[in-house]
Amino acid sequence: MKSDRPVAIVGGGFSGTILAAQLARRGISSVLIDGSGRMGRGVAYSTTEGAHLLNVRAEGMSAWAGEPAHFAEAFAKEGGEPRSFAQRRQFGRYLGQILDDAVASGKAAVEHATATSATRTDGGWRVELDNGQLIEAAGLALAVGNQEPEGLSAFTGSKARVHVVTAKAGLIGMTRALATDLADDKITVNLVSPGLIGPRRAAGKEPQHHLTHGTLTGERGKPEDIAAMVRFLCGPGARYVTGQTIHVNGGAYMG
Ligand SMILES: Cc1cc2nc3c(=O)[nH]c(=O)nc-3n(C[C@H](O)[C@H](O)[C@H](O)COP(=O)(O)OP(=O)(O)OC[C@H]3O[C@@H](n4cnc5c(N)ncnc54)[C@H](O)[C@@H]3O)c2cc1C
Repeated sequence: MKSDRPVAIVGGGFSGTILAAQLARRGISSVLIDGSGRMGRGVAYSTTEGAHLLNVRAEGMSAWAGEPAHFAEAFAKEGGEPRSFAQRRQFGRYLGQILDDAVASGKAAVEHATATSATRTDGGWRVELDNGQLIEAAGLALAVGNQEPEGLSAFTGSKARVHVVTAKAGLIGMTRALATDLADDKITVNLVSPGLIGPRRAAGKEPQHHLTHGTLTGERGKPEDIAAMVRFLCGPGARYVTGQTIHVNGGAYMG
């Protein structure tokens, strides 16, 4: 790619960070955009809780293809054993160091802001940030991670979310199929469909179906409300419940 403009990378989690570092190693400039306060760590590795461990052994967590011991060696310097499971915050520090090195090379820059739009320009992209800045980029990479779940939309529909609604509706069929397949092994399978959980999202970020559906209970649900249903389904009281989609939504949708 021959251009003075950088590659714009939206999302500073693991994927965006490693892309910026890989590009820097190849002498290609990038600007990494993330306004969540988790720059260089992302959702999984920004935890500060020491009890949160990686689910892969340290020896399998290198950020660099071709350097399989890269993380294990950094972990060993902190007293870790390569075959053990490091804390996720340790991996976060490791990733943060990789980003710092890329920035120090002069080939990566960070922008603590949220990208609100991206428009094609002649030979590139114009990315707009919520702080009013415009970035003229030679290329654009979206590394925005997984989006928040929205349980209702498989049933209510939602504008401009064909991919989301389709995937969620598929889970209903999968639940029924798995319940049938696993019944001989005395395994029950159910789907919990949450709706309107937690505080309202920022202005403009609330999905369209949230605007047309309110709860009958007059308040939004809490994560604990979903956890209580999952706990019930895992317990002996639910032995006769299988293949069901169970709505936990304060009456916002009634089937
Ligand atoms: C709790 C948890 C534990 C995990 N543990 C492991 C593990 O032990 N081992 C393992 O290999 N994998 C683990 N994973 C999987 C992990 O999610 C992936 O390995 C990887 O971290 C995903 O990185 P990502 O960059 O794709 O997404 P994320 O980490 O989600 O990063 C995406 C970033 O994009 C930002 N963003 C989104 N939209 C915009 C926008 N418009 N403008 C600017 N920024 C934006 C978000 O704020 C976020 O910071 C775990 C996941 C979770 C949730």
